Amino acid sequence: MNPGNRKPSSLPFVGDRFHARTVRVKAPGKINVSLSVGPLRPDGYHSVASVYLAVSLYEEVAATSTEAEGITVSISPDSTLDLDGVDIPLDERNLAYKAAAIMAEMSEKPTGVHLEITKRVPVAGGMGGGSADAAATLLACDALWNSGLSREELAHLAAELGADVPFSLLGGTAVGLGVGDKLSPALAKAQMDWVLVFADYGLSTPDVFRTLDGLRDSEGIEIPEPVDVDPTILQALRNGDPETLSRVLINDLQRASITLAPRLRDTIGLGEARGALAGMVSGSGPTIALLARDSVSATVLAEELGHRGHNALAVHGPVPGARIISDTLL
Ligand code: ATP
Repeated sequence: MNPGNRKPSSLPFVGDRFHARTVRVKAPGKINVSLSVGPLRPDGYHSVASVYLAVSLYEEVAATSTEAEGITVSISPDSTLDLDGVDIPLDERNLAYKAAAIMAEMSEKPTGVHLEITKRVPVAGGMGGGSADAAATLLACDALWNSGLSREELAHLAAELGADVPFSLLGGTAVGLGVGDKLSPALAKAQMDWVLVFADYGLSTPDVFRTLDGLRDSEGIEIPEPVDVDPTILQALRNGDPETLSRVLINDLQRASITLAPRLRDTIGLGEARGALAGMVSGSGPTIALLARDSVSATVLAEELGHRGHNALAVHGPVPGARIISDTLL
């Protein structure tokens, strides 16, 4: 066998010498093409019915085995985000750290591990960036420690880490029920083009949910539990029909995000005035997702918003979930 093609051994020692190995994984951020939110449940959660779309903006995690025990985390200088003043814990509160800790428990012979995260998905941006780091880390440590878990078992561990983690593992398009963790893949091969507009601040997801509860309480309207998503959305995604999709986008959290950050309404208005078919807050925000007619319109719109001082990026989706991009013995 050509040694260059050899799958790296799970044994870190050759004789006395420790051989570090790096597994690099990329995992996508998501937008919620539709997000219906039920009333506050007695357990403090909300049931949702959502259509998730994985988009071409990726987090990357490089997991390197270390001779010293334990888990360490750093942020790569290649990160494209301006992380000045942004709060990303590098200890056991980091979602990637938590993912590695769970995988270490599940593996027979875990080594120590260093996780270097390349951040591209905005922090506290409503695109599941931390969840993507967790999904990437699960897959990287699974390979690093030959844990032998199936994708299904990894998905179970992902759900323990957070409601959005299983989707970043799965990717593509999926309907999410429960708290967003009960996923059914949806058929949607056709690409849709979007422009993401990033904010220079974050919104806390729990704050956005609390604000929605407050708004609903003050209106005194009974909100039913969401049980399913609008089939027109899935049909439009399946057919690659952005015009139809633009008429049925929905996000129950949007008005709460706009209550907390009123400028978001102007950004959506600007995007729609400059050619987007429709705009919406992504998840809990503050990232805005603008649906474009095609890839050329998306590129033109992103450039125009850039000229007007916005941080905008053309992306497409669906894209696949977390996957290994390299596996190297050092
Ligand atoms: P979601 O929409 O899934 O709730 P989000 O995309 O809005 O999340 P994240 O970027 O995942 O937000 O981070 C939310 C908070 O989680 C951050 O403010 C940060 O303090 C904490 N956090 C923990 N681990 C990470 C990580 N790996 N990357 C970024 N933030 C993290």
